[in-house]
Order: sequence, then C-alpha cells, then structure tokens
Amino acid sequence: MKINVAQLLRASIGSVRDYEVKQAIDITGDGVDSLVQGKVRLMRTNRSILVKGELETGVELTCSRCLGSFKYPLKINIEEEYYPTADVDTGVAIAVPDEPGCFTIDQNHILDLTEAVRQYALLAIPMKPLCKENCAGLCPFCGQNLNRGPCGCPPKAADPRWAELSKLKKEKGK
Ligand SMILES: [Zn+2]
Ligand SMILES: [Zn+2]
Repeated sequence: MKINVAQLLRASIGSVRDYEVKQAIDITGDGVDSLVQGKVRLMRTNRSILVKGELETGVELTCSRCLGSFKYPLKINIEEEYYPTADVDTGVAIAVPDEPGCFTIDQNHILDLTEAVRQYALLAIPMKPLCKENCAGLCPFCGQNLNRGPCGCPPKAADPRWAELSKLKKEKGK
C-alpha cells in the first residue's frame, strides 16, 4: 500500500488526490492475508499529508461461543496524518512531531498505508466475536456444536451448580 506522494508534497496546501486501494495484507499476524479494498483521499496540509478513507476487508475469526472459525467483514474508517521526513525539493531532513506512533513519509516520499490500515483493522475487531448473533454455542456436557443440531444429552442435564442454586432458591422460598 505504498503511494508516491512527491507530486502532492509539491502541490499547494489543500490539494487532494484520490487513490483506489486493493491489496492483500496480513492483518492479524497469523500469516493469512486479507484483501483490503476501498478509496482513500490524500490531502496536502501545511505540515503533512492527511489520509482519509473507507476501506473494507474480511478477517478469519474464531467464535468465542462455539469456537468455530468464520469470516468477519470489517469496515475501516481511516483518518491519519503522515509527516514528511525529507524536503521534497532539497532532500534536507525534516523533524517529525515527537508523538508516539506518528506515521511518516520516507526519504523517497513514499507513504505506506499498510501499518495504519492494520492498526485500524485490529481496533475494529470485536473482543468476543460471535459467528452469528444467536450462536447456540457448545453443549456444556458433550461439547457438540449446537449450531449443527441438538446433541444426545438429556434436556436440562443435571449441572451440579444449577442444582445447588435451585436448592438455595427453594430454601429462600420457605
Ligand atoms: Zn459461534
Ligand atoms: Zn450434549
């Protein structure tokens, strides 16, 4: 996701360029690439290049309830400033803001979106993903994935914890 922004750095403040993004990158670090697609708009500001865009991709996740893997669609709304590290005409080094995680444009005026897209995508992934809203999960007794149909366990099989709870309830009711 490398874009040469030498031209844009020479353009006047407020100039914009639109780019089509279509590239596969490894988002979750598991060696599986996800195709990222969408549009980004680059704008020259007085100190940087502002990147704004809407990208879409899909990642393979593990359902937190049934442990099945499924494809999760991700929308990435990116908005990030990239600071030049070298003057586009003279090549003289430019100091970048002293902010942790601030994105830069390299000495050859290449702006690389990959890391920002990866970070934004990771933030968009839910902590406890579900393969579907009403995922039935696993049977606590035999471990069968209940999305594939009922297991052979007797209904309301006696879980000692529930038995204890209902005993308490009964005692309270007295
Ligand atoms: Zn599930
Ligand atoms: Zn079961």
